[in-house]
Amino acid sequence: MNTHSRKKPRGVLIAGNWKMNHGVAETEGFFSEFIKATSNLNKSDSSELGVCVIPPLLRLEQASGLAKKSPFPIAVAAQNVHWEKKGAFTGEISGPMLKELGVDWALVGHSERRQFFGETDETARKRTESLLEQGFRVILCIGESRAEREANKTTEILTRQLLGALPAAGQGAAGFLDGRLVLAYEPVWAIGTGLTASPEQAEEAHQVIRKLLWDRFGLEAAARTQILYGGSATPENADALLSCANVDGLLVGGASLKAESFAKLVAAGAKVIAL
Ligand code: PEP
Repeated sequence: MNTHSRKKPRGVLIAGNWKMNHGVAETEGFFSEFIKATSNLNKSDSSELGVCVIPPLLRLEQASGLAKKSPFPIAVAAQNVHWEKKGAFTGEISGPMLKELGVDWALVGHSERRQFFGETDETARKRTESLLEQGFRVILCIGESRAEREANKTTEILTRQLLGALPAAGQGAAGFLDGRLVLAYEPVWAIGTGLTASPEQAEEAHQVIRKLLWDRFGLEAAARTQILYGGSATPENADALLSCANVDGLLVGGASLKAESFAKLVAAGAKVIAL
């Protein structure tokens, strides 16, 4: 039976989004260094501490193979997946294709997909719904822009994005209740900018999100769902962010590219679950 720490009742997940970075040699180098740097992690802690690497599509197969060499489990996720299982969708990939590679985690609704590639709440919902139905774990990203925060619209935007991208209550509840749906609060103004939400700002937004989950899916779903913070998270600010009661992990871009800094972020996660 899981005995999650009192500080982190939902455990901690540290996920690294490589975006469009790392070729074959860099991927190989990352995993060999990261596996060495995390050799002190105890496999039995993996029910509380999750580690996930999100490489570009073309590195998924290689990354899945290398991840298997780690004594501590490392999940591998896709950065984007189509909601249809197959068909005339040039340039897209499907869930069953990922499953063939042993990949059953996916990121959905990242702000760069929304900003540059036309992702909307509606397409994020289609992806989330389809992927959950196919048995995937989904990390669904939401977050306000700087202008929206300055106009005091953070709660409004989080509400619209979250409720707009969540599956219909019945099926979505299954994803929440078995822990396959993870949310990531990623304020757009903090992504790749070096500006990080303060722990107070992060905690406030995470509380808004958890309350929304409670209202829509009930207490159990709200209590079980991991909500990650993302936006210029680094080994330097990780402890403060992870100390927030409603921050259940980190979604990391820039600082996940180097094995050394990603290992430090994972160590920060291990430290907080040991409290
Ligand atoms: C991200 O892209 O999800 C992200 C959080 O990036 P960064 O850590 O570089 O801000």
